[in-house]
Amino acid sequence: MRIIDKVYIDGSFVTPKGSETADLYNPSTEEKIGTVRLGGIEDAHEAIAAAKRAFPAFSRTTKAERVEMLKRLNAAVAARVSDLTQAMALEYGAPQTFTRFAIPHAASSFLTMAKVLEDYDFERQMGRARVVMQPSGVAAAITPWNSNIGFITSKLATAIAAGTTIVIKPSEMSATQTQILTECLHEAGLPKGVFNIVNGFGSIVGAELSRHPDIAKVTFTGSTAVGREILRSAADTFKRVTLELGGKGPNIILDDADLDVTIPAVLRMGFINSGQACIAGTRILVPSHRLDEVLARLKQEIETFKIGAPDDPDAMIGPMVSQKQYDRVQSYIELGTRQGACLLTGGLGRPAGLERGWFTKLTIFTHVNNQMRIAREEIFGPVLSVISYRDEDEAVSIANDTPYGLQAYLHGTDVARMQALADRLESGRVVVNGAPHEPLAPFGGFKQSGIGREYGVFGLEAFLEPKAVIAS
Ligand code: NAP
Ligand code: MG
Repeated sequence: MRIIDKVYIDGSFVTPKGSETADLYNPSTEEKIGTVRLGGIEDAHEAIAAAKRAFPAFSRTTKAERVEMLKRLNAAVAARVSDLTQAMALEYGAPQTFTRFAIPHAASSFLTMAKVLEDYDFERQMGRARVVMQPSGVAAAITPWNSNIGFITSKLATAIAAGTTIVIKPSEMSATQTQILTECLHEAGLPKGVFNIVNGFGSIVGAELSRHPDIAKVTFTGSTAVGREILRSAADTFKRVTLELGGKGPNIILDDADLDVTIPAVLRMGFINSGQACIAGTRILVPSHRLDEVLARLKQEIETFKIGAPDDPDAMIGPMVSQKQYDRVQSYIELGTRQGACLLTGGLGRPAGLERGWFTKLTIFTHVNNQMRIAREEIFGPVLSVISYRDEDEAVSIANDTPYGLQAYLHGTDVARMQALADRLESGRVVVNGAPHEPLAPFGGFKQSGIGREYGVFGLEAFLEPKAVIAS
């Protein structure tokens, strides 16, 4: 049993004033593996005060000093990739196919930001004005459980690059990973108070960070419902907000697609992070004259996606993170059937041979129309819907007919045509033929997928305020 009973405030691991605890589970076995003691309002206040004290000196550090700090943070996280991988496997059930990318990527986010920082000019001349980009003030980050380490590192890296101090409230369900990551970050030896990490309930610590007058900026990743609450609380003191919310990504197969490469790519994008991903391509749009062929190939290809616990090196899909998430996914599978969609494959219950653990069957619905709830709402599990279209215009109109707009996928052979189509999609990112992530490009959503952008220069500027100094 792992007992996590400290939070990180002002450069030290301290016992929180809050006394509530939450249980930690292994989602691959459903066993309790530990407990975490949670911070409360007082702990939030101490963390905010520490970040506020550290802000004046930190905001005046030079670019070179912060580049150096980012490099130290990268080295400290990179040194414990294997511990972080084990923790993410145990506590989240992440398969090796995911952690192999996710953990090194999390460590490298500090180096990517160091590069952005090196190339960024905080001052420019505009007419008669000298325009200076200056940190907005103390920031708060609120992060979810579906890629805990990566969300903390990317938000922290950006805050450091901007010269902003920060209080981070991760999901308490990821406390084991957070503990190891915090040990790494501590090793990097940054000035005390620059970053503070407080486990706690969202309704208590998260809500306090969203309303406290000493917090100038909130960066949040999570559900659209909570994002809306944060935006409302932030309004009272006009906090700057970056909200990274849900998605219902269109995964568009064009009529010229080579199915040998497209079908595996479509499923990889649909089942990314075991389906627990805001960027998952969950609506598969198929030209109607190729529907039968595509369905047959999807049914065949899905057999190659092995579901299993992280100790199985071949497993590509892990369990759902919690009983609650498992039940949520099951309820959507039941809803899809009730609303008249048909199962191409999968369905209710656990996959054969996996009686324990919150594993769900990889599920694809056909006969779906874009108005059904399974096509409109974020399920956050490995459940995909196939929707057919007549022509390119209809594909674009179905793709855009959603409250979300985070990440869309195009699959085909004519890249120029896909570049033109990408311009018509209401989506923060459009990925052509399964291209890899680009950490220098902006990430974030149109419409109810959020506000603002993370990563690269756009992410950096979201922590900065322009100031114009005009002299005659
Ligand atoms: P969530 O409720 O949005 O939680 C995300 C983070 O916000 C957690 O740290 C949470 O703390 C905190 N939080 C909750 N209520 C808050 C409040 N009133 N004020 C400030 N912070 C608050 O997400 P979830 O419960 O983990 O998952 C629910 C659904 O959200 C999923 O099924 C999925 O659809 C969506 N989701 C989306 C993403 C994404 O990447 N876009 C990520 C995760 C989940 P607690 O941990 O204490 O609740
Ligand atoms: Mg929640």
